[in-house]
Amino acid sequence: MDLAALIRNVPDFPVPGIQFKDITSLLQHGPALKFIVDGWKERYAPQDISAIVAADARGFIFGSALAYAMELPFIPVRKKGKLPANVISEDFELEYGVATFEIHADALTKADRVVMIDDLLATGGTMQAMAKLVERLGAEIVEIAFVVELTTLHGRKRLSKYPIHALVEFEVDE
Ligand code: AMP
Repeated sequence: MDLAALIRNVPDFPVPGIQFKDITSLLQHGPALKFIVDGWKERYAPQDISAIVAADARGFIFGSALAYAMELPFIPVRKKGKLPANVISEDFELEYGVATFEIHADALTKADRVVMIDDLLATGGTMQAMAKLVERLGAEIVEIAFVVELTTLHGRKRLSKYPIHALVEFEVDE
């Protein structure tokens, strides 16, 4: 399936100069989510994964679907102030701003082997913060999967400690 053709470019969103890759146009195409999740399920089924960890908010769309398909726990990493129980947190810089992510302190343990999911890899700052949270809880990161990778921002280099998997690659101004 040509996923790249289903992703809409929105220039100057959310701030001037950012070419936003909009995955809602992909989600409007019924078979696309199934194609993505079925592919990941096949990839991760043999890898003894114990949980799927995903990023607030677009990562939840893909991550929760994968957790459902694999019958695995779904662990949300959320923006500051959203998770109700005891949390640990990490600050990070976005391509367009600064943010804090949190995970429940009891969400994972040393026994866990996780796949982490987000919609898009840009500079890698978001996923680096998530990886720190997961590792502070002692879990092992088996792979980090994205629907889209903006290759010219070198997020893969920033995350070079981890195996990275992306379904669609764009240059940043494509
Ligand atoms: P980064 O931390 O720079 O890798 O940014 C990745 C996060 O920001 C992901 O959660 C994306 O959803 C979002 N993001 C960053 N840049 C873009 C973009 N150009 N289009 C769509 N989403 C983006």
